[in-house]
Amino acid sequence: MDNREIERLVKEAVSLGKKTLVEPEAKEVLRLASIPVPRFQVVKDVTAAVEAAGRIGYPLVLKLVSPDITHKSDVGGVAVGIKDAKELELTWSQMILNVADENPVAMIEGFLIEEMAPKGVEVIVGAIKDEQFGPVAMFGVGGVAVELMKDVSFRLAPLDKKEAFEMMAEVKGFPLLTGFRGGSFKDLDAIADVIIKLAGVISSTDGLKEIEINPLIVYDEGAIAVDARAVIG
Ligand code: ADP
Ligand code: MG
Repeated sequence: MDNREIERLVKEAVSLGKKTLVEPEAKEVLRLASIPVPRFQVVKDVTAAVEAAGRIGYPLVLKLVSPDITHKSDVGGVAVGIKDAKELELTWSQMILNVADENPVAMIEGFLIEEMAPKGVEVIVGAIKDEQFGPVAMFGVGGVAVELMKDVSFRLAPLDKKEAFEMMAEVKGFPLLTGFRGGSFKDLDAIADVIIKLAGVISSTDGLKEIEINPLIVYDEGAIAVDARAVIG
């Protein structure tokens, strides 16, 4: 983990008056913490988007980058499975219309062109600095279950592998990772590794208040963080 570089990145954002890190900034923190993220590039116009897409390869994902939009899909700001340049251009125009419609005052920093990760089980890994308890790690399985049922577990950070496994086993959605209804057994070691690393990042970075990966997509082997955001200050 490149802690000095993470510290520098967060400090710089704070000094610019930012309150959050947008997805590509938060993913840069993850990358520096050796947490796997898809290849991506931020672009400002459609010509640059098509160029970047050529480098990253289809199918790909197009997303809005805006500090004013926390849930990108709610405003039509996420498109997965874009197959070629023509579809990219169409989706781009549609996305701009979506945002203009849903949140006309949102400041758009750019668009993310991102490698498309294969399907897997989606989990959430987070870390916060709690006023009372200090650094705390958070884990949950499946986006909707987490938001609707608050099916999450917590541990004080930093934590070890045994504690990370306890956290995973505590949530009701755990069977989704261990072969429920003929599904395959997912890479729990890879999840534990991400929980431990994120807990390490929150513990050792001044100015980082909150960081969340939602989702981390988990496979039979490995896991990848396809969305991230952070609160700083
Ligand atoms: P939101 O701001 O709405 O949470 P996300 O970046 O999490 O936006 O994207 C919404 C959903 O799209 C994710 O939960 C995931 O299922 C899918 N997704 C996003 N990025 C990728 C990617 N790079 N590869 C595959 N699926 C993705
Ligand atoms: Mg998300």
